[in-house]
Amino acid sequence: MSADAGSRAVAAYLGLAIGDALGATVEFMTPREIAAQFKVHTEILGGGWLRLKPGQVTDDTTMALALGESILAAGRVDARATALAFDAWMRARPVDIGSTVRRGLLAFRKTSDPKMPRSEHDAGNGAAMRVLPAALATLGHTEEEVRLACRAQAHVTHHNPLSDAATETLALMVQDAMLGADKLALLHQRAHPLARQHPEFTFRAMKQRQNPSGYIVETMQAVFQALFDTDTFEECLIDVVNRGGDADTTGAIAGMVAGAVYGLTAIPPRWLEALDPAIKQACETQARALVGANSFVRF
Ligand code: MG
Ligand code: MG
Repeated sequence: MSADAGSRAVAAYLGLAIGDALGATVEFMTPREIAAQFKVHTEILGGGWLRLKPGQVTDDTTMALALGESILAAGRVDARATALAFDAWMRARPVDIGSTVRRGLLAFRKTSDPKMPRSEHDAGNGAAMRVLPAALATLGHTEEEVRLACRAQAHVTHHNPLSDAATETLALMVQDAMLGADKLALLHQRAHPLARQHPEFTFRAMKQRQNPSGYIVETMQAVFQALFDTDTFEECLIDVVNRGGDADTTGAIAGMVAGAVYGLTAIPPRWLEALDPAIKQACETQARALVGANSFVRF
């Protein structure tokens, strides 16, 4: 694995955590409320409805870390190992938890089946927000293997075609960027094909949409608009979180992809310094371990 791919993996993981910490302050707010309070929200301050400490992250980052640990321990992206890791994460009383995630993990406790039945309704963004470790662990594998790994972790809580398509697209975008693809390539090779396959994801026509919800379609539209309409990591994250709504998750997903695209040197030092040091360390260590492990990950 090239040094650059490893460094872009770290940038993606730190981008995820930074976007989560930045966005959490304004989660569930409207753009108008954000503007009234901050003019433009640009700093990692904590607070928000979860009353976070400055630099603290939420479920988006901590579920990814739990998934990554399970991949490293199991040597593969395994549905049962993932379900056990998420269940242990839930028992440790995380700062927040999505309703679909909770429902899936309670079902796993009852049935011991790590795969939820297919649902047309559970199209939340919870499987997409935590997919990064699966992407890092399967770099260099076939596209079908990458998609299988994404689904193995996703279906523990979210088993829905729109969630699957978005989750797989994000993982492949991160991998493409780690291997040197630029933003234009991601647009043409990943974002447009997703919208052709599932027209719900068409995003240019939805330019005015603000306040993206946890519905994966609105989340992806906000992330794509912010990513493709800005030119730096910083601009992308500020654009997406100031739309409010599920801002920690749009921030986390945008930060993950933008981190891989723009690389470590593009992340503003003030955001790296503001991030919880233990989380920062865990993201860096795990990113490198997962990229180093992808030669032994099997399916
Ligand atoms: Mg969250
Ligand atoms: Mg959220």
